[in-house]
Amino acid sequence: MPDIRIGYGYDAHALQAGRPLILGGVHVPHECGLLGHSDADVLYHALCDAMLGALALGDIGQHFPDKDPAYKGIDSGVLLRNVFELVAGAGYRVGNIDATLRLQRPKIAPFIPQMRRNIAHHLSLPVDRVSVKATTTEKMGFEGEERGVSASAVVLLVN
Ligand code: MG
Repeated sequence: MPDIRIGYGYDAHALQAGRPLILGGVHVPHECGLLGHSDADVLYHALCDAMLGALALGDIGQHFPDKDPAYKGIDSGVLLRNVFELVAGAGYRVGNIDATLRLQRPKIAPFIPQMRRNIAHHLSLPVDRVSVKATTTEKMGFEGEERGVSASAVVLLVN
């Protein structure tokens, strides 16, 4: 029986005019972007928390404190790779991931293939093991009112 572990991650960031919108490592053209200490890539952050959660290693804020100037404006792909190194160091690989982005605008379907390729690259996975989905919230809640974007992710780790 293989040793398998499941992890779940969730994150949300506020939208602000004039910031770049970075989702899954893709710069999505839009009039506003996500506010945060790093590049605020909400999808990568949810994935980091899912992997940390699977190993019961706390959360992204503990590993990369937002008070630390070293992480100011950092490409969250660096954080994702750092977390993946913890996973690999603990003797696990990623079996598959499934993630959902929640935002009202813009339409991001055209950008999802590149997000999947980016995640597959960072986690040493075939693209067909990486699922990224997106939904609006029918104009309800902070995502629907375009005040922010949220993401959730589950990951399976296999020893
Ligand atoms: Mg975050």
